[in-house]
Amino acid sequence: MTDQIDNAETSAPETPEAEAPELDMEQEPAAAAPASVTAPKAEEAPKSEYQVLARKYRPKTFDELIGHGPMVKTLSNALESGRLAHAFVLTGVRGIGKTTTARIIARALNCIGPDGKGNATIEPCGVCEHCRAIAEDRHVDVLEMDAASRTGVDDIRELIEGVRYRPTSARYKIYIIDEVHMLSKSAFNALLKTLEEPPEHVKFIFATTEIRKIPITVLSRCQRFDLRRVQTDELATHYKRIATLEHADIEDEALALIARAADGSVRDGMSLLDQAISHGAGKVTTQQVRDMLGLSDRSRIFDLFDQTMKGEINEALELLGAQYALGGDPAVMLQDMLDLTHWLTRVKLSPDAANDPGVSQIERDRGKEIAAKLAMPQLTRAWQMLLKGLEETRIAPSPIQAAEMILIRLAYAAEMPPPGDLIKKLRNDLNKSGNAPQGGGGSNGGGGPGPRMQVVNGGGAAVAHARPDPLGEPEQAPQQVYAKLPETFAEVAELLSKERETTALAIQLKNYMHLVKYEPGRIEFRPARGARADLSSQLIKTLNNLTGHRWLVSVSEREEGAPTLKEQELEELEQRKADASLDPLVKAILDGLPKAKIVAVHLPPGQEETEGEQDDSGSVYDDAFYLEGDDEL
Ligand SMILES: [Zn+2]
Repeated sequence: MTDQIDNAETSAPETPEAEAPELDMEQEPAAAAPASVTAPKAEEAPKSEYQVLARKYRPKTFDELIGHGPMVKTLSNALESGRLAHAFVLTGVRGIGKTTTARIIARALNCIGPDGKGNATIEPCGVCEHCRAIAEDRHVDVLEMDAASRTGVDDIRELIEGVRYRPTSARYKIYIIDEVHMLSKSAFNALLKTLEEPPEHVKFIFATTEIRKIPITVLSRCQRFDLRRVQTDELATHYKRIATLEHADIEDEALALIARAADGSVRDGMSLLDQAISHGAGKVTTQQVRDMLGLSDRSRIFDLFDQTMKGEINEALELLGAQYALGGDPAVMLQDMLDLTHWLTRVKLSPDAANDPGVSQIERDRGKEIAAKLAMPQLTRAWQMLLKGLEETRIAPSPIQAAEMILIRLAYAAEMPPPGDLIKKLRNDLNKSGNAPQGGGGSNGGGGPGPRMQVVNGGGAAVAHARPDPLGEPEQAPQQVYAKLPETFAEVAELLSKERETTALAIQLKNYMHLVKYEPGRIEFRPARGARADLSSQLIKTLNNLTGHRWLVSVSEREEGAPTLKEQELEELEQRKADASLDPLVKAILDGLPKAKIVAVHLPPGQEETEGEQDDSGSVYDDAFYLEGDDEL
């Protein structure tokens, strides 16, 4: 269910259910408010007069929509040339204004201008009977349906039954179907029949958060508009305008914080703004907004990160535990550390980043200080580890334990030697085989053949190996994977890739399975288009055979699931290449060897951090940047 607020005014009989979520929006100031705040504005003003900001300032024209320029341009060209599609599909993240946009399009198509003689226009007048009726959700020819609550074929049949009748009063009969991806297969088929031969007087506007779930047969008959995520600064400007209109005095830094927390969703930010104004009673300070957003612990995150990166692991764990005891969510804390790492990296590259208005003075100073202490490879390494760790924490049975392990990993990794030492080491090691000197999982053989150079670090190894190995256990012996069940979905893929007979299945698994849920012995997934029909039964049979365990593999059509392993791999590869090129050592090599380029940042499949297991030394280089052109060294 998205765009609740846009449905807020909906009283059309087609969407009775849309009102339920809307209530949440109106109650939110109370729900999210710290106990001590004064009565929200909503209670001071007579109920009937108070409108949540998102509703009050809902855009009525394309001009008022923020960040959707390209769509407006395309639509305006289509209107001018009279080449209008019969169906439009609007896609974008939740809260971005899809249903609002759909209604503006409906107005644009049906507007007759103040004098009643106008044509369809990109600038609906807002005063003609159609414009007004659409804005008030009472236009007889504009029918809205929420597919999230009415997914069946009968619902669609009922809706499109009227398609053959001419509109009662307007130019076009317009069907707005929200969350269209929720329709059942047969409902889509019913819809498709109409889309194939639509009457001249009918237009469809679909809105969806998940465009991939819409059958291609339907999509191909629609003009598609991707509503992009609104940039933080655009949002901040927008909120400032509204705050001014509301005569609310809000510090710019506070607005920037709200915009950042909105994360691209205009509506989410609006409701935060609403809250902030209610709490502020006159003047809204940055500190109030921080508290409201739960950012008051920000300095704790700095401490946590700082201590971890200094290798003061006991202190870091204590801090983590204290935050956890106070109700902190381990995944959120890691997410915060991830954000911090990203920000520190940017500060490192360009100190201007620290002047972002969303950053407090204390943070600014501490940020610059920490960024100065850490080398770029440490930061990129920390980013990778936290990103990976965050995933693990989300699926771990005990998130706090997972978070602790990640901090420990990070602390060990932080001890890697500076790049200068590594270059020396590199020179010494050049004539050697190229394998990391440390023992361990022996998984280095995963890469393909071909001339290449592995940059190795052995510098911190001795120190690290004198310690207990925090990373060793899970990946210690991939060969024994037959004896125990794969811990992760990626390990299942790895297991299947090992045998010639099951390679085809491994490929299916990597390319066509969107993982919804995994636990050893149990897989729930959504098949991608092109998946074999018997994929789950084949998987069960094969995995039962390979592991001697009874597997349960189920298909979930409802859940989106994770990107396929293949998609993840590609994304990661790009990220690694980007990270690698930032690394001073790699950069030095790239500069020194004009022919060299990064062809791969190699990790054995399914073993991301595993290589790190041999590298408690913390060397980012054990993640092995392979470069071409080594023979020139
Ligand atoms: Zn009009």
